[in-house]
Amino acid sequence: MIEKNRLTRKIKIGSLVIGGNSPIAVQSMTATQTQDLDVTARQIEILEQAGADVIRIAVDNEADVKALKFLREKFPKPIFSVDLQENYKLAPKVAPFVNKIRYNPGHLFHLEKNKPIREKVKFIVNAALSNDCAIRIGVNCGSIDPDYKEKFKEDLIEGMVRCAVDHCEILDDLNFMNYCVSLKDSDFDKVIDANRRFSKERPDVPLHLGVTEAGLPPEGIIKTRIALEQLISAGIGDTIRVSLTLPNEQKGEEIKVGREILSDIEAGRFRSVPKNFLEGLNIIACPSCSRVENDKFVDLAEEVRQMTKYAESHKVTIAVMGCRVNGPGETDDADLGLWCGPSRVNLKKGTESLGSYSYEEILEHLKTELDLIIASRVDQKSAMS
Ligand code: SF4
Repeated sequence: MIEKNRLTRKIKIGSLVIGGNSPIAVQSMTATQTQDLDVTARQIEILEQAGADVIRIAVDNEADVKALKFLREKFPKPIFSVDLQENYKLAPKVAPFVNKIRYNPGHLFHLEKNKPIREKVKFIVNAALSNDCAIRIGVNCGSIDPDYKEKFKEDLIEGMVRCAVDHCEILDDLNFMNYCVSLKDSDFDKVIDANRRFSKERPDVPLHLGVTEAGLPPEGIIKTRIALEQLISAGIGDTIRVSLTLPNEQKGEEIKVGREILSDIEAGRFRSVPKNFLEGLNIIACPSCSRVENDKFVDLAEEVRQMTKYAESHKVTIAVMGCRVNGPGETDDADLGLWCGPSRVNLKKGTESLGSYSYEEILEHLKTELDLIIASRVDQKSAMS
């Protein structure tokens, strides 16, 4: 077991205890549309067999709630966490079927815009209390609460940390202590920074760690490993997830890799990072979830990697996202962004939309834009020399 020199309090997620000197738990999430019962049930089987301590499932609507009820009846044993996405009002409906509720403070503004945030959090807390659930306050770089984004636009990491700390205070004030926090970004340096800052301020609150949209292996594993090595060796982190873009049948890899990283850290085996890692092309890709709109998304992410190999030495970030709900926002910071709909893939350059193309056409358009970016940077360099 990894020795920890921190004093997070212990919290209970069903029969699992995290925090304090408890073993670090390894989690994953179903990458399938929740209502697609056969494929989601298969995902749960795969994750359970891989030894997941917690399996997260996302819900968006009443039909997903029904699916969740069915899945809980089919799988009474695994510890389930539910992701409320943008619909916090589903909390009392899903809580009876799960052991933990994750809400994203950045999504609370979507419904009932005039209702105070504290009231919305209280609503979730009441659902958790009535059903003996834990809560995760899950702050994410791609969906920071607009108020914090505006106030901390010069330092978004501070915005994430302040938002998490403020939500902890709301829960403390409501006398609800069975909660943990996560602060995720697709940039491992920012994950390290955000979690260090938060932990300094709230050393008592258990932390769930992960690099969001880490992408395809092996790069996605390396990015996650760097963050986890830095944080866990400093005593920060009570649960982890390795978010990888993988075909559904291989989703158990997230758990296997997570355990490998933990056992390496425990044994003092720190992996060196390849020289020049991410100094050139960086491909970010989401791990997929219930919102994914076409299974071709995972293949597309791999095809993007293969097609762009020729540009490996250029410092360009390409983001590939699996849905039109989070895809547009999550690709804003990339040089080129792709987000996938049911039959079309949307292409963006920074925040500017360049149109949508079929899955068959998108690579050629991506290549054209990539070539333009590379050419413009070469021109800039020669103008400066
Ligand atoms: S981008 Fe969409 S499909 Fe991908 S993990 Fe985020 S919400 Fe799920």
